[in-house]
Amino acid sequence: MQIRAESEGVMDETRRKIDKPEEKKDIKSLTLEELKQDMEKMGEKSFRGKQLYEWLHIKLARDYEEMTNLPKNLKEKCQKRYTLTSLKQIRVQESAQDGTKKFLFQLGDGNTVESVWMKYKHGNSVCISSQVGCRMGCAFCASTLDGLERSLRPSEMLEQIYLITRLTGERVANVVVMGTGEPLDNYDNLLKFIRLLTDENGLHISQRSVTVSTCGLVPQMKKLAEERLQITLALSLHATTDERRRKLMPIANKYSLEELMEACAYYREKTGRRVTFEYSLVEGVNDSCQEAQALAGLAGPLNCHVNLIPVNPIKERDFQASSSQQIQSFKNKLEKNGINVTIRREMGRDIDGACGQLRRRYQGSLEV
Ligand code: SAH
Repeated sequence: MQIRAESEGVMDETRRKIDKPEEKKDIKSLTLEELKQDMEKMGEKSFRGKQLYEWLHIKLARDYEEMTNLPKNLKEKCQKRYTLTSLKQIRVQESAQDGTKKFLFQLGDGNTVESVWMKYKHGNSVCISSQVGCRMGCAFCASTLDGLERSLRPSEMLEQIYLITRLTGERVANVVVMGTGEPLDNYDNLLKFIRLLTDENGLHISQRSVTVSTCGLVPQMKKLAEERLQITLALSLHATTDERRRKLMPIANKYSLEELMEACAYYREKTGRRVTFEYSLVEGVNDSCQEAQALAGLAGPLNCHVNLIPVNPIKERDFQASSSQQIQSFKNKLEKNGINVTIRREMGRDIDGACGQLRRRYQGSLEV
């Protein structure tokens, strides 16, 4: 078992770090109901909760000064009672190829996270991080090289989207939780984030426009199924045998493909949503025709959509992307078997598009 920091002790530590530093409540992580109740506890009318919520989640206010219809004494009380999470833009890189922007944001404690803004014809997408670092240890991924620092709070996930909306001046239509971190390793915060993001009283992004990608934490996948949300679940599969998967993803030592497929079927049964398989193609490792055939065997019965990603090589590891010819024949094989396939457009590859690369470069430049 290779996964770093797997012990309960470390989980506790992570939780303590998230919950403890401020005794003050994190106002942007509260639901409308919680905020209204809190107003009543403070001796205020509950409609003040609604006003605050609108400032935070619709008008995307960054401080109380902007909240012009609230009395001064309430703003002062709020300042004492709550922390107000806002991120700071440290860097932005814009792709000359396709307009993709990659942002490096600083959190309140000085840690940094990456978010990516992608412009599509059918609306803009934002890819957000769910943790600072990651403890899953996937072999080709830059985000995991230094392990997990901490998980993000709901407000810190929301704020990546809110700040990008403010900076670009454009509405975000789709949100993918595919940046740094394993979202299902930060389950409670992720769930609250989704509820706030899709709340009709807030930004109201539709659940169907939200995708959560997991390396395959089976118990959490099942728990998520039981929430019966309409979000898309993407499973990072990357191999079709347990043996090969274990070489790429340490989590495969913990959960077998059989258990994973069962969890996908359960997700589909409970939510009516088909699962997407993410499959990063690595030359000579998982891109053979036999592997494509085996992938079709897994995806077919579950009616899964397959998303092929040419691996984005990182300098710390020796993986190469498959040739475009190989990718095309892999895709053809799947299609011949009736599988719905897309090749992920390589957005922003000229700007350190792969998870965790910009953050690592920034950290590197600080150390010099
Ligand atoms: N922890 C989650 C989400 C983050 S990564 C997960 O594992 O799904 C989002 C996707 O990008 C995953 O499928 C991941 O395996 C893949 N990925 C990470 N680094 C990559 C790289 N260098 N090249 C191609 N795909 C990569």
